[in-house]
Amino acid sequence: MIRYEDDRQRRRVEHAVARLGLAEHDIGQVAAYVNHSRWVADCPCGGAELVSRHRDFLCGSCGGQGTVQWPRPRKQIEAALLERPVEGTRNWWPGETVAMLRAENLEAGI
Ligand SMILES: [Zn+2]
Repeated sequence: MIRYEDDRQRRRVEHAVARLGLAEHDIGQVAAYVNHSRWVADCPCGGAELVSRHRDFLCGSCGGQGTVQWPRPRKQIEAALLERPVEGTRNWWPGETVAMLRAENLEAGI
């Protein structure tokens, strides 16, 4: 399974924002990518958070809020990555095609 931000993770981030007294501010759009079987996005401040398809990005390091950009063939990307048995090898960057992922799988004997 490819992980997304869940309610528990979101509460952790919101708690960090409150505890640190961070001012929530707009950072525009952030691009979702897959890192070690998790959908995440980077904040311009250097922070990174898990992302959800159901709410905006919130950075626990600076309070930045943004709209998450999702890739179009998201499900096919996940399907290609889920063929890989090792979670740490399930990685995807914007711009990589499903065909590229499948070629990598073949190369790795998957
Ligand atoms: Zn940030």
